[in-house]
Amino acid sequence: LERLLEVNNLEVSFKTYGGEVQAVRDVSFHVDKGEILAIVGESGSGKSVTVQSIMGLIPTPPGKIKNGEVLLEGQDLLKLSKRDMQKVKGSKISMVFQDPMTSLNPTMKVGKQIAESITTHQNIKGQEAKERAIDMIRRVGISNPAERYEQYPHEFSGGMRQRIMIAIALACHPKVLLADEPTTALDVTIQAQVLDLMKNLKDEMDTSIILITHDLGVVAETAERVAVMYGGMIVETAPVNELFHNPKHPYTWGLLESIPDIDAADKKRLVPIEGAPPDLFSPPKGCPFAPRCKYAMDVCVEEMPPAFSIDSGHEAKCWLNDSRSPALKELVAAGR
Ligand code: SF4
Ligand code: MG
Repeated sequence: LERLLEVNNLEVSFKTYGGEVQAVRDVSFHVDKGEILAIVGESGSGKSVTVQSIMGLIPTPPGKIKNGEVLLEGQDLLKLSKRDMQKVKGSKISMVFQDPMTSLNPTMKVGKQIAESITTHQNIKGQEAKERAIDMIRRVGISNPAERYEQYPHEFSGGMRQRIMIAIALACHPKVLLADEPTTALDVTIQAQVLDLMKNLKDEMDTSIILITHDLGVVAETAERVAVMYGGMIVETAPVNELFHNPKHPYTWGLLESIPDIDAADKKRLVPIEGAPPDLFSPPKGCPFAPRCKYAMDVCVEEMPPAFSIDSGHEAKCWLNDSRSPALKELVAAGR
């Protein structure tokens, strides 16, 4: 496997009237070539801020990237000038958002919007850009692409508009596509179609995908690996099967408890876990999940759990995985 993107020790904060919010705390992960990585978590867990940092979309101020690097094929995107980052966007890395209506220009033909993305980022103009755009409309599974090229966003359904956004994002053959809740606004059938489309295009165009979602059904359906975020941190990373069948973090257990039967995963969404998410103004020095965790031990409050290596590609930041943990014995006895 070839490493494509690597995020190391990312820390992002925001200044607010109430103080400084630690939105992302020491986050590290990677994406291999041709892989789909899902980042899953409740809203406010830091997943959107993480991908926005990768895209250079954090407004500074009030935001601040305090530490870390984002290496795309070895090049640190956080060190690029605005201008150089602009070049990277669209040609190497692009993004699809939740609501296509706010990202599409309502007064411009959709075909032109795709063609514009092609001409801005590549040395392709005029008729050739138009042909490319029509080809992209076809590739995202919209029939009569030449006629559709001439239409405006309001003439498309929600699912079709999201396909157009994907066409714009992929028109320049990026190496990584960042998708932030791309199907959340769509109904279930359309959502499945759009996810299928993304999977197929990923193979066809050899693009890696970072998929942000709060929906475990989407994770099971689409991703190869998962990073679970909580309180601005990644608390568990694992291959999808491993995460569903051998989770090693109480927060992940909580997420999965909403799914009685893994095979019915596509029908279930995350249910909120009891208790409030951590206060990110003054995050606890120990495990962020401790106030809500029924297994919490003294050490959990005192000391941040390190990333325990469970298996190849599987890590969990939870003291229960320490062989000295007394609670571990109880869990083993209970068959966890
Ligand atoms: Fe619970 Fe402690 Fe594990 Fe945190 S480290 S999830 S508080 S057992
Ligand atoms: Mg979000």
